[in-house]
Amino acid sequence: MTTTDDTAPTTDTAPAAPAPAPAPGAFGTVFGPSMSVAEFDGTSWSAARVVATENLSLHPGTHALHYGSACFEGLKAHRQPDGSARAFRADAHNARLRQSAGRLCLPEPSEELVDELLTLAVDANLDVVPDSPGALYLRPTLIGTDPSIGAAATPSRTALFYVLACPVGDYLPPRPLTISVETDVPRTTPQFGVVKAGANYAMALTPIMAARRAYGADQVLFAPGRVLQETGASNIVLIEQGRLLTPALTDAYLHGVTRDSLLRLARARGWNVEERDVTLDETLEWIARPGAELALTGTAAVVAPVGTLVVDGEAHTVGDAGASPLAGELRQALVDVQTGKVSFDW
Ligand SMILES: *Cc1c(COP(=O)(O)O)cnc(C)c1O
Repeated sequence: MTTTDDTAPTTDTAPAAPAPAPAPGAFGTVFGPSMSVAEFDGTSWSAARVVATENLSLHPGTHALHYGSACFEGLKAHRQPDGSARAFRADAHNARLRQSAGRLCLPEPSEELVDELLTLAVDANLDVVPDSPGALYLRPTLIGTDPSIGAAATPSRTALFYVLACPVGDYLPPRPLTISVETDVPRTTPQFGVVKAGANYAMALTPIMAARRAYGADQVLFAPGRVLQETGASNIVLIEQGRLLTPALTDAYLHGVTRDSLLRLARARGWNVEERDVTLDETLEWIARPGAELALTGTAAVVAPVGTLVVDGEAHTVGDAGASPLAGELRQALVDVQTGKVSFDW
């Protein structure tokens, strides 16, 4: 890395320093040897097959590259006690991928085809599935492939669907996160709230980079009108002894499978679980109480504790400085089911 000159003038419009290269082996940079693939030719889907994880050959006019006809999923296959590997709640991710495809007017693979590609990707990479707490992260990806830059107002007739696999380690952040709250801008547009599309991530980057520069924040929590939605890539839960509170599902943000799983596990433990509008003001009251916890949820990190919430430029410590035994308890309960130690009927 180059050193930066502290005396150099900076302005809001100055380009950000280049992001450091990801550490070798960082999450999502190591790929399994094989991926599964199928193509839609405008009429029907090809048979599913396994190919080497190699560069794709795409026409430079590919629809997805110009008009955003692309969506994806993220799920994990975990090593089971009998040595096999099982994708966690694959049915829920399967349904969400097809929902994303529908909202983007992409050719929608059948439930069976998605299932088949997932199974093929896990089987073809079985040798590289790490033991727990590692897992095989699966990235189903669906893109519109019509070679046409004139199709701005027309869906792509053809598509490529593949499932990429990455052996990953435990993704628990090394310290409680600092989250900055954005009270003006929404997470995304209402049309894209429940779509898992790269465009959503690109949209969140400018506020994230600004919060990183201003407060050293790890992520931004979107709370337009001071009502909580989610962060750039994960849902949010408020926890205290025997109690979990989270924003109710709306079209404004992504319905996480991890969120749903934790709610079910918490209910099964007899916790009081509430899904409703959550205001920023009550969140600030919540985190001021001793023993209060705030955590982000998503497939990669499972449950990531928040230690500091920055609101209107002011840093608020969460509960006992980000200590999060309750989030840890839920996380462990989830991992026990994922790794086949405990069974749970979703
Ligand atoms: C994927 C994603 C999540 C988390 O969903 P999981 O199913 O729990 O992995 C939350 N928010 C956004 C914007 C996402 O893309």
